[in-house]
Amino acid sequence: MAIRIGRIDELSLTQETKQNSLLAAIAKSAEELTSGKGWPNGVIDLMADLGRITRVSRVWIFQVIEINDDYIIQDYPFEWADSAGHAQLSMPKFNTFRREVKNASPEYKQMLESRKRGEWQSVIVSQLDAGEFRENLEGQGILSMLTIPIIVEGKWWGILGFDDCKREYHWSEVEIALLRTATYLLSNAILRDRLSSKTKQFEILKGITDASTWELDLVSGHFWCSPEVFASQNGLTENIHMSQIRALRRIHPQDRKNVFASIREHIREGKNTFRKDLRVARDCGEYVWIEIIAQLSTNEKHELRKLSGIAVEILKRKQEEEKLRQKANKDPLTGVDNRRSFDRHFAKLMYRYKESHEIFTLLLLDLDHFKNVNDTWGHAMGDEVLRHITRICKRNLRESDQLARIGGEEFAILLSGIDENMARTIGERIRMDVESHPMQTKNGPIRMTLSLGAAGLERDSGSNSCEQLYQQADSALYAAKNKGRNALVACHDMDAAGERSTYEWIQPSWS
Ligand code: GH3
Ligand code: MG
Ligand code: MG
Repeated sequence: MAIRIGRIDELSLTQETKQNSLLAAIAKSAEELTSGKGWPNGVIDLMADLGRITRVSRVWIFQVIEINDDYIIQDYPFEWADSAGHAQLSMPKFNTFRREVKNASPEYKQMLESRKRGEWQSVIVSQLDAGEFRENLEGQGILSMLTIPIIVEGKWWGILGFDDCKREYHWSEVEIALLRTATYLLSNAILRDRLSSKTKQFEILKGITDASTWELDLVSGHFWCSPEVFASQNGLTENIHMSQIRALRRIHPQDRKNVFASIREHIREGKNTFRKDLRVARDCGEYVWIEIIAQLSTNEKHELRKLSGIAVEILKRKQEEEKLRQKANKDPLTGVDNRRSFDRHFAKLMYRYKESHEIFTLLLLDLDHFKNVNDTWGHAMGDEVLRHITRICKRNLRESDQLARIGGEEFAILLSGIDENMARTIGERIRMDVESHPMQTKNGPIRMTLSLGAAGLERDSGSNSCEQLYQQADSALYAAKNKGRNALVACHDMDAAGERSTYEWIQPSWS
């Protein structure tokens, strides 16, 4: 037949010369390790083939676990032996064993240095100097030994070794070169195993979180990311590439400054990981909330050179956080701010007033005879009235004013930048709006009125506190009720009438 065809793994290994047989075994295992059984089964097959062809007693792999100037710790993960008598794999003395380096024989040290450099070593035991190293090999019945380091990603990973317990064998240079090729195959298989376990880890992570991986290289100005979070289209598999400037422009303008400030802070504190929630624009322009978890790489001068990590979509978490925030600050019945939120805003305005004399006025509102509404129309309708009043208040206020429900049928309004006179006008507007807009029900209108107290800040007094201002507004409200309700009283009116101190003070609930 003019054309011969066949499968690599079916090649006969009983070739006329040992070199040809070795080549065939290596070719077969190259196929097996890269596309077939892989690590570790392909390794065991390769060792068996090499052992049979070279007719040694044992083929073994040591893995370097730890090495320093004092000692080396190695493990013995793989072995092929030509007979049970030569098998050593299960012996406890080879189970993650430690050898002293500092006080070892010069020959052993020399061999170790040579292994670190990636060179091969062929040993005839009878020619070794007397000492621990020779005794050790003799103790294992070894007459000759060949060792070739396995280098993975530029680092000494371990050794492929051949022990001969029957011959003082002199390895030919061709044999050594071929066996060196076998160690390249092993390195490749180890690397593939590492990659595949990393891929698996990432697949698990992705399955749980919809994470993207990304890297920003500040030296080359290049950014890449996997498509999961950043692409608006599903099912893409290719990475997205863009310039650093384009990538940074994708961060929401409100988050950009924050991100840079946090990164600088992290570098200053010497931290090399970084987490931040931010919004980024997808391809379609729509913003998504993501959390980035990044590693920061700096140069010797502590200048940032690279950021790499994962990005996780956190829309659901942000929605939950927002809901909790709303719950903590909003009144569920009316949707306006609650007492807690009022207290916080009140303190903030008071602080600003003291710092920079930005004035504000507090209005307290209390519905008149609200108990009667409940008694006449029922509690549910009473609730509707509270919502109705809220709507009326809101339509008379600016976005910057704060309306809060601070009690059952009591509300507070904080008017920033507004003095008591102006607040009186606003309060009167609300009072009249409520009076003239009864709530319509199918059983007829529910008429309501409210009473208001206003207290502004005396610019030069300096002694103003939230407690004092609240007390003044409350006294004014009390005065409005006393006047017959459906009225507004401001502190200035009371001062003019000499009434300010005559009203009983009701302790506010926060103190
Ligand atoms: P005044 O003019 O003196 O303020 O009389 P009032 O009846 O409004 O005052 P009072 O403090 O005697 O009664 C307040 C009523 O508000 C009593 C309570 O049942 C009612 N109330 C408090 N919270 C709610 C609520 O959430 N929903 C409803 N429907 N009623 C409430
Ligand atoms: Mg009340
Ligand atoms: Mg009331």
